[in-house]
Amino acid sequence: MSGYISGLGQPAYRAKQIFKWLQSGISDFDEMTNVPKNLIIKLKDSCYIAGCNIEKRFESKIDDTVKYLFKLFDGEYIESVLMKYDHGYTACISSQVGCNMGCKFCASGLFGKTRDLSASEMLAQIFAIQKDRKIRISNIVMMGMGEPLDNFLNTAKFLNLVSCEEGLNIGLRHISVSTCGVVSGISKLASLNMPITLSVSLHAPFDDMRDEIMPINKRWKIKELIEACKKYQNITTRRISFEYALISGFNDTDLCAKELARITRGIMCHINLIPANPIKENSFVKPDRSKIDSFKNLLISYGLTATVRRTLGSDIDASCGQLRRKIRKESDCAIIQ
Ligand code: SAH
Repeated sequence: MSGYISGLGQPAYRAKQIFKWLQSGISDFDEMTNVPKNLIIKLKDSCYIAGCNIEKRFESKIDDTVKYLFKLFDGEYIESVLMKYDHGYTACISSQVGCNMGCKFCASGLFGKTRDLSASEMLAQIFAIQKDRKIRISNIVMMGMGEPLDNFLNTAKFLNLVSCEEGLNIGLRHISVSTCGVVSGISKLASLNMPITLSVSLHAPFDDMRDEIMPINKRWKIKELIEACKKYQNITTRRISFEYALISGFNDTDLCAKELARITRGIMCHINLIPANPIKENSFVKPDRSKIDSFKNLLISYGLTATVRRTLGSDIDASCGQLRRKIRKESDCAIIQ
């Protein structure tokens, strides 16, 4: 940014001022009260603020989770979630409008990908939430809509900006990037050598099962994915988190638990069990609580660290892509009528 500002004949400190204003979630250049009018006019002529406007906000009555439906400058919608934990606030942000990965259980991919988000649009979700709730976010999970490693350059730019001192200064150790298993992207992320937590959406320990629910597995098999995770860990020394959505009668068998333990052997990891969240478009159901607990205990007996993810915001459709799907359906209906 400083290069751009000096190109406009302005001193470098102006870039810092403007960067600071943008962090506060402003939506109009006129709000930059300490920036001279003539520069504001130039900025308006040549740039736009890639903000996120709150279209809808849902506050959970069960916990402090807040789900946002944001409208972007081009009328597209994305979702973000704010979760409150003992250690602070975590924002779950989107990386794309829609998703091309086509996981069968996920609402985000129902209409494919419309476009990538820019790094600014990823940041804007955090700025907008902080401004709305008057809080500071301390942790970020890239687990909203989209596949961050299918939008690698913008994701990398975002990681740099969100962690820089002049920016939100959020420690890279407080950021998780979640992937369905884009092996080429995992290698690229590893080469950045940032201490980011890598979350891998595994969901099935056998290739034939994973092929059924996650098309990415046709491109990169579990063996290649696990190899990439090992390399990532060798470089970053970070513990890997494996996400495992438990689907009743599908991947919740004792054999699956045993295989999960076998394939993750040698990796310092944590298994995050997610009771599958049903969406209307599929018939997946979550196992009952005793089945979930026995699956978890079996993993623990094999020496793994496993926990069941708390279902936050279950009353507000807080799962991936569910809100945008609703909005799109409503607008599709409006067009049909
Ligand atoms: N594309 C990335 C990040 C987005 S999804 C990825 O695949 O990891 C965030 C997490 O929610 C992923 O683990 C995803 O598999 C999971 N998820 C999506 N829909 C779900 C559902 N209906 N039930 C349970 N988990 C779901």
